[in-house]
Amino acid sequence: MAPSDEIRLFALDGGRILATGADAAEMSDDGAYAGRTLEMPVPCFLVRHPLGDLMWDTGMSQTRTDLGAWATPGPSLVDQLATIRLAPGDIRFLSVSHGHWDHSGNGGLFFGSTWIVNPVEREIMFDDEARATPAMDDYGALETAETRLITDDHDVFGDGSIVIIQAPGHTPGHTVLLVRLAEAGPILLSGDLWHLAESRTHRRQPTFNTDRAQTLASMDRVEALVAETGARVIIQHSPADQASLPRFPASLR
Ligand SMILES: [Zn+2]
Repeated sequence: MAPSDEIRLFALDGGRILATGADAAEMSDDGAYAGRTLEMPVPCFLVRHPLGDLMWDTGMSQTRTDLGAWATPGPSLVDQLATIRLAPGDIRFLSVSHGHWDHSGNGGLFFGSTWIVNPVEREIMFDDEARATPAMDDYGALETAETRLITDDHDVFGDGSIVIIQAPGHTPGHTVLLVRLAEAGPILLSGDLWHLAESRTHRRQPTFNTDRAQTLASMDRVEALVAETGARVIIQHSPADQASLPRFPASLR
């Protein structure tokens, strides 16, 4: 089926991370980033579909003060959405690639959406350890949101245009998103499967991934999907990939 020409992909500004010293070093477990300065944008994405809108990742919190100097929040997500006449309450579906603070920071805004999430990821996001952190201020409101639990790849609207792909290893329920656009073609938003373009080339992963072998298997699986579909990969923390996207409120179609 040809994708609807009404589907739009917007990249919003969810902040940025400047990693130096130990923070940069831990972004690859082979030591490749030790001594480097890594500047990483933190985008969030809105996919508009004739049957509803999907938010993919929600950036970093505007209000948390415990994140340190390496994290700079983006402009208000509410204000950004307002420039295209949307409010969080208009968004039908929310999904985050994983629960880390730079991907779920404004998640609570979308308490009225249907949250699509791997059950294991959801469990970690609400375990005792997480509950003891300010992360609850970021996304705690999702606990009572309408929730669709997915353990397999999930075709959000049933037409193949927006598919959430299981890609565990960075976290136990990490996912990536395939969006099929009429003009731009298939786009793969890779969450934190890779952090930089060279991470993909060299199959590098952070020291803090929850499962190394599972991460490598997810890389293989996603690379096979990319080869099969011809998808353009957007590495979400890559400055070059960020710069290659239309600047919000412009969008890909
Ligand atoms: Zn991240």
